[in-house]
Amino acid sequence: MNSNIRLLFLLFVLLISPAYAQSSCLNADRNIRIGLVSQGLPETWKIEPSTGFIEIFDVKKRQSVYSGKAAQIVISAMKGGKMKVAVDERKSLYYFSNELLFSAVGRAPINLKVLAGGKKSYSYRGTLAISPQKGGLRGVNIVDIEDYLKSVVPSEIYNRAPDAAQQAQTIAARTYAVRNLKRHSGSENFQLCDKVHCQVYSGIAREIKVATNAVKATNGKILIYGSEPANTVYHSNCGGYIIDSRAAWKGSEVPYLIGHYDGVVGQKPFCHFGKQIKLNQNTDKLPKPQASITIAKMQAQATKSTHKNFGHRVGMCQDGAIGMAAIGYNSRQLLAFYYPGTKMATMNYAVDGSQPVEEAPVVVAAAPRPTQTVSLVAPPNPTQISALQRNSKTGQSGRSIKDTLKQVSTSRIDSAATSLRKIFWTPGQPGISRSIY
Ligand SMILES: [Zn+2]
Ligand SMILES: [Zn+2]
Repeated sequence: MNSNIRLLFLLFVLLISPAYAQSSCLNADRNIRIGLVSQGLPETWKIEPSTGFIEIFDVKKRQSVYSGKAAQIVISAMKGGKMKVAVDERKSLYYFSNELLFSAVGRAPINLKVLAGGKKSYSYRGTLAISPQKGGLRGVNIVDIEDYLKSVVPSEIYNRAPDAAQQAQTIAARTYAVRNLKRHSGSENFQLCDKVHCQVYSGIAREIKVATNAVKATNGKILIYGSEPANTVYHSNCGGYIIDSRAAWKGSEVPYLIGHYDGVVGQKPFCHFGKQIKLNQNTDKLPKPQASITIAKMQAQATKSTHKNFGHRVGMCQDGAIGMAAIGYNSRQLLAFYYPGTKMATMNYAVDGSQPVEEAPVVVAAAPRPTQTVSLVAPPNPTQISALQRNSKTGQSGRSIKDTLKQVSTSRIDSAATSLRKIFWTPGQPGISRSIY
C-alpha cells in the first residue's frame, strides 16, 4: 500500500473509532427476538394470520416454503427433533428439523393469533419463529422493539399513570431491553424472554392507548451512561427514600443509582402523592413544580423511610414518577431525577437516515456537578439543535424545530421562555445537581 494512503487510512480509523465506540449500543437492530418462555415447550402450535395469508420461510435453506391462503396452520412436534407443518387441516405438508418463520401477509392489521398447546390464545405483531427443542416446540416472536414496548409498558406501570410517567417508564423499559439483548444468548435462540426475568410481554391483548402514545412520543429514546445503556432499574414504591444500589445488592458504586430523598426537601415524597392518586384517595394538595430540585443524597448504606416500601427501592420509584407527573414535571425531568447524570440518546433506527453513524448521540442532560442547584429543565445541546435545523431544512421530518422541541418536552410548565432557554443552553451548564442530605 502506498505509504500516504496508509497514513490517511490510519488517520481515518483514529478519527472515527472513539465516536463509533460511543454510539455502538445505538446501532442495535430494531427487530428483537422474544422467547415465548411462558408458553413452555408445547407439542403443537396453532397460528391464525389476521390477513388470511401466510408466508412460511425456512431459515436454514433461506427460502420460502409456502406462501398463500391459510386460515390455520398447525405445527406439531415429531420424534427425532423434527416438526411437521399442516396448512388448513390438509395432510402434513412439510417436515423440518430447523427454525421456520411464520409471517402474516396482506393489509393491516397484521398479526398472528397463536394457540400454544391448546391453552389460552395470544396475538402477536411481527413474525413467529418455531423450532423443535427438547421434544417440544419453542416459539419466538420476532418483533419491532417499539411494538414490543406497546405491550410491555402497560404490564410494568399503573395503566392510568399520567403521560409523563408513562413516557419515563417507556424510556426505562426500552433502555432495559437494549442493555439486556445478550441476556439469553448462548444456547437459547432468543434475546429476551417474555417473563418477569426480563420484562413481562404478552402480545397485543395487553396494549393500551396511553402507553402506545408514550411509545410513539419517545420513539427510539434510551438513557446512556458513558457509552453504555444505563441500568434503568425501577420499583413500585421506595418508601420515601430511594436507596443506593450497594445497599440493595452490594457490588460497586453506580453513580446514577444513588440513595436520595424521593422528593423536594421540606415537602412530602413524590411517591406519597403518587400512591394517593393510584388508590383514588382524596389527594393532599399537590405542591407546585420546582424550577430546580437539589437531590438530597444519602449515605451509601442508609435505608431510612417515611412509609412502607414495595420493591427493591433502587432507581426509579414508579409511584414517585406518577406523583412527579401529576405535579407537572415532564418525562425528561423524571428521568434526570431518578437516574441523575445519565444522558438521553436516540437509537439509530429512529434518527434521520442521513446522519452518519459516528455522530454523537443526542444529549439532553449534562452530568451532575456537586453542590450546585440548577434548572431541572432538560435542554438539548447545540449538536441536537444543528441536527434539528438540518432536519427541518431537508424537510424529511416535515416538522419545525419548535414542533420537535414541543415533542421533546411535554411539561405543563413549559413556556416560550423555557423553549428559548433550551435553544440558548450551552454545554457549560449542568443538568441536575446533588448535595449531601
Ligand atoms: Zn429473561
Ligand atoms: Zn418513592
